[in-house]
Amino acid sequence: MSVEVDEVSDATHYVIIGNGAAGNEAAWHLRHRDPDSRITLITAGRLLFLNRYEFPRVLDGIDDWREFLVYPPAYYDEQRIIVRRLSWVERVDPRHRVIELRHKEQVSYDKLLVASGGGGYLPEYLREYRHLLHDFNTIKNAKQIREALPTSGGKVVMLGGDVKGLDLARTLVKAGHEVIVAASEHLFWPHEISAEEAPRYVEALEYMGMQVMHDRKVARIEAGSKGLHARRLVFDDDGGELHADVVMAFYGLMPALKFILGSGVDIARGLLVNPQLRTVDERIWAAGDVCQIWSPEENHYRFYYGWKNVKMMGRIAAINMTGGDEAVSTFKEDKLLINDQGEIDSTLWEYH
Ligand SMILES: Cc1cc2nc3c(=O)[nH]c(=O)nc-3n(C[C@H](O)[C@H](O)[C@H](O)COP(=O)(O)OP(=O)(O)OC[C@H]3O[C@@H](n4cnc5c(N)ncnc54)[C@H](O)[C@@H]3O)c2cc1C
Repeated sequence: MSVEVDEVSDATHYVIIGNGAAGNEAAWHLRHRDPDSRITLITAGRLLFLNRYEFPRVLDGIDDWREFLVYPPAYYDEQRIIVRRLSWVERVDPRHRVIELRHKEQVSYDKLLVASGGGGYLPEYLREYRHLLHDFNTIKNAKQIREALPTSGGKVVMLGGDVKGLDLARTLVKAGHEVIVAASEHLFWPHEISAEEAPRYVEALEYMGMQVMHDRKVARIEAGSKGLHARRLVFDDDGGELHADVVMAFYGLMPALKFILGSGVDIARGLLVNPQLRTVDERIWAAGDVCQIWSPEENHYRFYYGWKNVKMMGRIAAINMTGGDEAVSTFKEDKLLINDQGEIDSTLWEYH
């Protein structure tokens, strides 16, 4: 096992796990608050930080990853931020202050920020059909969707119906495809919509051109036969069947934190932090989709999704890692709205 040997220096080494919105925002603030420090961003991914909000453009044929770069490569040199790509974190060892990478390298830290985000949650009964589902998390995934659909008039089934999925559904409908949302209890997630309010929002989806199916659980998904649609979905309890070019699942997020299990920090669904984004380990902070923040107003831990919240967390984590004491404002009303055009909008999803 190779061990990274630190240069002898007094400079604090900040290590950030995650090269997304939270990690990058934190890195920028760390650099400005502690100019002499060492900053290392670690990511399992192959590419630099990309603007995923723009991925729907891939459906219009734009698929060069450079088009989606948030910062040019020179930015990281200028800011003296080391980006370690293709580096999968396997374990955190707080006692020795090292993280272990899958390729058996260890990286030591003085202060650690966990900003590892999350991946789409897939209910147990759908896992055996994973290979028949399309994802939308990378440019490659988005390209695969484009290739699976005709230029227009394609058919897409969206299982679950969380806000990320509905946002993509809107783009697909505008491109002339048919979108059927097989709604689950995750419809509109992470917004919690009461049974009384739901019909109004479902009507808005239909007005936007989507078809919404309720109370139907998938019994199985099959590859379609030659000359027919590529996928066949069969529903439980005589719920019938559907044929589609693309089937996608949008059941909310599952935080990516396997590597920190057993390290002594508290975890519920996400990594638990106080409003200052500290974990129970005084050298470990967390920010972004991976963490659940204590909300004194609501008396429970909660997630804060979306670009603006995630960036704000990155900034606050950096302030507190460098001796500050700022708290995330945990009282926020996240709203699902129907805008003047009669379309659904989420205050979580604003990113400009
Ligand atoms: C396709 C898509 C579209 C979206 N569109 C919008 C939108 O329009 N508006 C909006 O507000 N929000 C949108 N969101 C949600 C928003 O992007 C997230 O809330 C935000 O990106 C979360 O940022 P993050 O930094 O917490 O995590 P992420 O951006 O998910 O970054 C996580 C990072 O951690 C790394 N990582 C994870 N595990 C490991 C490991 N074990 N080892 C090493 N590295 C690891 C990953 O490689 C990645 O670099 C979208 C999300 C997706 C996926």
